[in-house]
Amino acid sequence: MDDTAAREAIDAAGVGIWLPPHLEGPGPDAVALLDLIGLPGGGWLAIGRSDRDRWVTPVTVRDGVLRRARPGDGVIAALLRVLAVGGTGALAGRRHIPVIPTGGDERAIEVDQSNESVVVGERVVVKLYPHARSGPQPGLDLPAHLVAVGFAETPAPLGALTWRDDTLVASMATYVPGARDGWEWYVELLETACAGAAWSAADAPASMIGGLVARLHRAFATESVVFPSPIAAAGRAEIARWRARADATLDDALASTDGAAGARLTAVAPAARSAIAALDAIERTPVLRIHGDLHVGQVLQSPDGRLVVSDFDGDPLTPPDVRSALDAPARDVAAMARAIDHVGRVVAHRHPEHDASIVAWTERSRAAFLSAYRAGLGDRGDLFDERLLRPLEVEQEAHEYVYAARYLPRWLSVPDAAMPALLGRSETVAP
Ligand code: ADP
Ligand code: MG
Repeated sequence: MDDTAAREAIDAAGVGIWLPPHLEGPGPDAVALLDLIGLPGGGWLAIGRSDRDRWVTPVTVRDGVLRRARPGDGVIAALLRVLAVGGTGALAGRRHIPVIPTGGDERAIEVDQSNESVVVGERVVVKLYPHARSGPQPGLDLPAHLVAVGFAETPAPLGALTWRDDTLVASMATYVPGARDGWEWYVELLETACAGAAWSAADAPASMIGGLVARLHRAFATESVVFPSPIAAAGRAEIARWRARADATLDDALASTDGAAGARLTAVAPAARSAIAALDAIERTPVLRIHGDLHVGQVLQSPDGRLVVSDFDGDPLTPPDVRSALDAPARDVAAMARAIDHVGRVVAHRHPEHDASIVAWTERSRAAFLSAYRAGLGDRGDLFDERLLRPLEVEQEAHEYVYAARYLPRWLSVPDAAMPALLGRSETVAP
């Protein structure tokens, strides 16, 4: 099939061809083809648009019929070859290392994901962004910065492909063999404790994660060619915008949650509102680039027990320009503190008879996480403004209701239990 016939086939295929099978939530009404890039070995990468959004889809021809490429068709492996040679057509390769390992079979990664990650040759993970945006992308500059400052506790970033220089379409990193994310390994560890193993084994990861997040933040605070002046200060105006955003998220949570959970959220909403209002008392606080979507699912564990942090694309629910803004490191800390709590909630939901042990585990783990984080910051303790922790945790928890309403209804039981518990906590916060 030549390029002209392929263009016609894509136009005739409708929006379905732009979406990976797992992509949940509302898709575009219509996508207009912008570019079709022929790849080495056959197949194409198609770029489309709907309003401000860009859509990226790999396509191939099988038995004379054009369809979305799947792992095994070789189209994703071809993207890796494009990176290795520096680009083709409007695709530019940005390499973090000079020689990119190419070749080998393709295999899909079978976990919940927002994008589409494929393992190539058991050595590289190629992450394709089916729903892309033009403009600044944390997935481009954060890995480049981490490579520049020598942060090694992440799957080694290899490079990325951009389209017309401003749209991130794929990123590539070293595959960590046997790695599992925290929604698997951490939950499993707690379930093992519920089944009779010592709870102390389930206590260990929290301080490891605290240290890891601290080292990540120290790396973000280090000057590089990518971020020559990584640290700034947020003042009244910016903190007021954070407050408005947190209030809006709470409004959104209230509007999108009905039934008994909605009634429970409405009952605690005044307390949530006043926790968020504590932001008003803050005049100035340090900001830098942060992870922006930090939770235990971003902490990968290798079979040898090593933990690495991954996925620097920011929160898929926020616009890309917001994702690239300097922000408070406390936002990452709040998100991870919530996620550790959520691991406990998930397990308590499955094993209600262990509720008391899980509540105690959650308290120990929270304390261990925070104290390892503070210790890990060392002489950069100033980066963590603890006054932000509670308001940002409340905002994060409100965000969980919105996420459940939009993408994953069964997740609702988690914020439904976690928000009242969070608001009931009385924690003394250092001024
Ligand atoms: P998304 O943005 O789509 O959520 P992630 O980067 O978080 O994508 O990757 C999704 C999943 O793929 C992870 O939770 C993990 O299980 C797996 N994964 C991602 N990168 C690697 C890697 N380098 N090595 C091994 N597994 C990985
Ligand atoms: Mg992820």
